[in-house]
Amino acid sequence: MMADKLMQIDGTTRLMGVIGDPIAQIKTPQAINPIFAARGANIVCVPLHIEAAGLEAAWPGLKAMRNLVGFGVTLPHKMAVVDLCDSVDGVAREVGAVNVVRREADGAFKGYQFDGPGFVRGLVKQGHTLEGRNCLLIGAGGAAMAIAYSLLEAGIAHITIANRTTGKAEEMARRLNDRFGAGHAEAGEATPKPGALIVQATSIGMKPDDALPMDVALVDSTMLVAEVIAKPEMTRLLEEAAARGAQTHSGMHMIHNQVDLLAEHFMQVGR
Ligand code: NDP
Repeated sequence: MMADKLMQIDGTTRLMGVIGDPIAQIKTPQAINPIFAARGANIVCVPLHIEAAGLEAAWPGLKAMRNLVGFGVTLPHKMAVVDLCDSVDGVAREVGAVNVVRREADGAFKGYQFDGPGFVRGLVKQGHTLEGRNCLLIGAGGAAMAIAYSLLEAGIAHITIANRTTGKAEEMARRLNDRFGAGHAEAGEATPKPGALIVQATSIGMKPDDALPMDVALVDSTMLVAEVIAKPEMTRLLEEAAARGAQTHSGMHMIHNQVDLLAEHFMQVGR
């Protein structure tokens, strides 16, 4: 499919970039180009290798490229881009990090956060119910905040945030309650209620000898355990949860669903 698409590049082809340093490891081009091709969009996603020290110099150049619809943002630029964008959406502002920049109709660069929407879409597409459910969220970093926002927007009743650094969990709960109303979030222990959605949103689980992020003896068959970690697809936490009869949901869904949403988002440029 890629070979077909490359042969179709012509003077009207538009570009989507992905900026980062390093850049060789990114998977977005191979994931999104087949979607653009399948939907008949004459857009090609390419890596743009920009190091931290070069971002400010590159920014006006990116803006001057009229056929650049926007770009994905990966490390180390996610935070620096917030201040460079002409505007950012509410979640990106709260999280303090942007992972997508799009050229809007007036030519301005707007920053977005797609981690949360990608995560929620993944759960919904797998048929899971979020409305009215309790959530135990493990972690209080950028991914956790983005996910918490989207879960509350999707109708989750209450989130307990359990984090190694308790102060960060408390601060996050305060900000969520400011936004969604008192009683929606609190900092607490990693003790899930029956029927809970458990979201593992720390970086624990990538290495086989990583500690478990919670006491898995507390997981039972009424619960759904979801990961942000995509590699390995089956983390130790998910294995332990499945062994206790819980439903499990890999971090891969978050990636796949973000890419789908991104393709749609960039195809709207110039429509
Ligand atoms: P941050 O650095 O912002 O946050 C890291 C979080 O992990 C914090 O809550 C931190 O706790 C916790 N943590 C890290 N190490 C430990 C440890 N040894 N024990 C207990 N807690 C720990 O990272 P992000 O939120 O940006 O990313 C988190 C993970 O999510 C990453 O692995 C990332 O790859 C993944 N991710 C996956 C995506 C996907 O599409 N599947 C998308 C985005 C992120 P503390 O506050 O105490 O330091």
